[in-house]
Amino acid sequence: MEPYRIKVVQALPTPPFGERLEAIRRAHFNVFFLPASRVMVDLLTDSGTGAMSDRQWSALMRGDESYAGAESFFRFEAAVQKFTGKRHVIPVHQGRAAEKILAFTLLKPGDRVVSNTLFDTTRANVVFRGAEAVDCPHPESRNLASTYPFKGDADLDAMERAFREGKVRMVVMTLTNNTAGGQPVSLQNLRAVRELADRYGAPLVVDAARIAENVFLARRHDPELQDLSIAEGIRAYLALADVVTMSAKKDGLVNIGGFLATDREDLAEAFQNFLVVFEGFPTYGGLAGRDLEALAVGLEEVVDERYLAHRVEQVAWLAGALREMGIPVLWPPGGHAVFVEAATWMAHIPREVFPGVAVTVGLYLVGGVRAVEVGRLMFEDLPYEWVRLAIPRRTYTRSHLAWVARTFEVLHTARERIRGMELVHAPRLLRHFRAHLAPRDWNPEALADIALEVGE
Ligand SMILES: *Cc1c(COP(=O)(O)O)cnc(C)c1O
Repeated sequence: MEPYRIKVVQALPTPPFGERLEAIRRAHFNVFFLPASRVMVDLLTDSGTGAMSDRQWSALMRGDESYAGAESFFRFEAAVQKFTGKRHVIPVHQGRAAEKILAFTLLKPGDRVVSNTLFDTTRANVVFRGAEAVDCPHPESRNLASTYPFKGDADLDAMERAFREGKVRMVVMTLTNNTAGGQPVSLQNLRAVRELADRYGAPLVVDAARIAENVFLARRHDPELQDLSIAEGIRAYLALADVVTMSAKKDGLVNIGGFLATDREDLAEAFQNFLVVFEGFPTYGGLAGRDLEALAVGLEEVVDERYLAHRVEQVAWLAGALREMGIPVLWPPGGHAVFVEAATWMAHIPREVFPGVAVTVGLYLVGGVRAVEVGRLMFEDLPYEWVRLAIPRRTYTRSHLAWVARTFEVLHTARERIRGMELVHAPRLLRHFRAHLAPRDWNPEALADIALEVGE
């Protein structure tokens, strides 16, 4: 059961089919343009969408909004130091601000960055700087059925080849590996990457957005971690990094916030100089004092075993329910989301016409569920066509997830009714956020008779 009870509630929007149809048309069939007030169960992202605890809400009141040297900063700094084991702590308003600082202080045009897999905003910041991003995902991550427990690992051979080709100035390890399915990275793999980074003289950055989930999942299969608490496990991983970046909107259990942390004086100095120009003074870095307070408490709460066990179980329950229906899902389930493989599930829709996007439209129309494509629209050269159902932290109950499962069941039996999507308009960077699409040779109204309505 949920290791918390509900203290404040937010009414769930329940628009009927006709309103959903109008909303998705107005959104140019891109779920990012849907107003949240037209979404019943919102699994678009687990980023900044979780519920804060009563302890976090009360911490907000202690927020010290002094421009320089605010008390809130020192509480935040101590919490991040304890969490990461790193000395220098630099607050930023969210993860991509940390990525921008990295890209502009450590990279120059023509450089290369290697990674297990860069998250989309990290990649965009690298590319925006004129550098090249090289993903080296583990071969097992492409094997849907394999039960290999560390599908988030880097492919060490591919990474070493990239190093030998030259110009690699930075290594980024994303934990968990979001784009590869929220899969954990093993401590052993991170150690091997550390050795490569040392051999070729590149700093190792750990993108720690979901480090608590990573340690929880990894510990099940790694005897070395079994005697450690989650907090100790996190520090064991992060001890290997030169720089830690974190979008605290994930495992920071807050709605906004992030940080960079490092033991290296020279890097901390460079980051802070950049920070004052683009984010703010080093003791607030684009956040209010109250945000720093909530984040400090969030970092304490996220290492709670009961919280993590429940979270991972929610994801596993939904993944298991879909798998039992015969819907192809990434296995084993990751830490924050269920990944459905849309190209196989919708075998009648060619990959060129975005089967993943078609599924997001279908799920929304049938059950008011908002999911997101992680496929060719998001990354043109992605070898798979995922639909990601990200579970917000401490927000939905089993009944909400049962509604999602039911939505899939209905769409599964009627899947031939949905077809491909045409790309009407798309910006160059992060095109999925703002792209316009249209159904190709099918009419979304044809889903009216199977649409689920709340209260029926
Ligand atoms: C969300 C995320 C980011 C970017 O953080 P924002 O807070 O959205 O700017 C970076 N890396 C990973 C792995 C993420 O999940």
